[in-house]
Amino acid sequence: MNGPDDGIVYLVGAGPGDPRLATVRAVELIAAADVIMHDRLVPAALLDHAQEGAELIYVGKQPGRPSMPQGDINRLLVEHGSAGRAVVRLKGGDPFVFGRGGEEAEALAEAGVRFEIVPGVTAGIAAPAYAGIPVTHRDEASAVAFVTAHEDPAKQESALNWAALAAFPGTLVFYMGVRALPVVAAALVEHGRASTEPAAVVERGTLPGQRTVTGPLGQIATLAQEAGVRAPAITVVGPVAALRDRLAWLERAPLFGRRVAVTRARAQASGLARRLEELGAEVVQAPAIRIEPRADGVQEAIDELGTGRCDVLCLTSPNGAELLMDGLERQGLDARVLAGTRVAAIGPGTAAVLKDWGITADLVPERAIAESLAAELVAQGVADQRVLIPRAADARDVLPRELEQAGADVQVIPLYETVRERLDEPQLERLSASDYVTFTSSSTVRFLLEAIGGVEHFPERARVVSIGPVTSQTARDLGLEVHMEAERHDVAGLVDALLRDAPAAAPAA
Ligand code: SAH
Repeated sequence: MNGPDDGIVYLVGAGPGDPRLATVRAVELIAAADVIMHDRLVPAALLDHAQEGAELIYVGKQPGRPSMPQGDINRLLVEHGSAGRAVVRLKGGDPFVFGRGGEEAEALAEAGVRFEIVPGVTAGIAAPAYAGIPVTHRDEASAVAFVTAHEDPAKQESALNWAALAAFPGTLVFYMGVRALPVVAAALVEHGRASTEPAAVVERGTLPGQRTVTGPLGQIATLAQEAGVRAPAITVVGPVAALRDRLAWLERAPLFGRRVAVTRARAQASGLARRLEELGAEVVQAPAIRIEPRADGVQEAIDELGTGRCDVLCLTSPNGAELLMDGLERQGLDARVLAGTRVAAIGPGTAAVLKDWGITADLVPERAIAESLAAELVAQGVADQRVLIPRAADARDVLPRELEQAGADVQVIPLYETVRERLDEPQLERLSASDYVTFTSSSTVRFLLEAIGGVEHFPERARVVSIGPVTSQTARDLGLEVHMEAERHDVAGLVDALLRDAPAAAPAA
């Protein structure tokens, strides 16, 4: 147990929105925290790092309800810190930039609770950077001011010196609600800032769907309103805003602005999701399936391998390979169990899992489908050989059938089951607005259609990209049109197919 003296509160910046912009220190502290108090603009993905059993307390604004008063938040921080717990107070951007982190630190200092500050990437720098706007520039701006303004002109009258701000020799960066923009822009012009000065409003900086509106200061409020810009948004005023014309980079990503749904099991989705995000896509997680291991099957396969009578081991999916090797390790065994056994793997992904365990597959068929593996094994000769096929419970019978016909003694062992995963309302909603839906197996097709209540509810304008011919056939059988099929039947091949389909793949010269 922690004693009261061990208590510490970390005021942590979560970064501007893109979870990859959180600091290493932030992620490390989130993973070790007993209590996490988080705000509205904190990326949800960061909370996935929390350890099991950590207490997550949301202290941000709720729609239609007043936010928790700052005094209550301060008291909670002091309370948990004095109780000897490791508390992470997670705030959007940087905790000391318009985040009231200063007040929270004061409360902790006063109460004698130990605290540390972990700076974060602030939205006022990050949102412009993602829009291709450097807030300083050797030729254009040698100073930058971070300003917060209020929607209520009466309130800002007292807080801000408009004449001084208008005369500020450098870039002005405003953190505020977009409703304040007309008042702010007008006040700056009224106090002497040129109405022709370049300005930009960056909506949802570093987040999926980031948008930027640019124009002269005198018109920026109207332009933003016409474009329907909403919170959160950062406004930049100064010559640097015009550099976006040359420096915009985000929008050049081949999949920028595309929503791509990933339907494979959550545990397997990260590789595909990361690759798509790197290409600029907004990934919609819609895991239609979940893998349920069968402990008895794993045991049976291990026992069978232990007899040393197995001539050929066929692994048909990364899941199967992972489960089998995990099972071996748990029992204190390793790759030596496979000494003398030929190992065949369907798909480069399966071979890669084996490689991680120090096993180089003897055979990886050219095409990642059962037919291909069967043909190549048969060509090598399998008569009277003992072949072990540990795999999904619901797999097709092509492989065992062909091998048996060629005289092999085949044993199929179900290692796992693929079961349907439920999708919640927000997932279904994002799915319905997808530009692409990716399918990595027949079961993802089948279960996704079940989850959405039938093919007639399939997102209207979504294009279907499939990992290979078997998956495509299932999709067609169930009434879907398949727009693209991967040439290589793995994640990289799937992404290539999607890129071939996206016309934006060839950026304008
Ligand atoms: N501590 C935070 C700022 C909190 S004030 C930081 O350092 O970034 C909240 C304001 O920040 C919002 O009204 C908006 O103007 C700005 N903001 C926060 N996240 C943003 C984002 N992703 N894109 C644009 N503006 C953002």
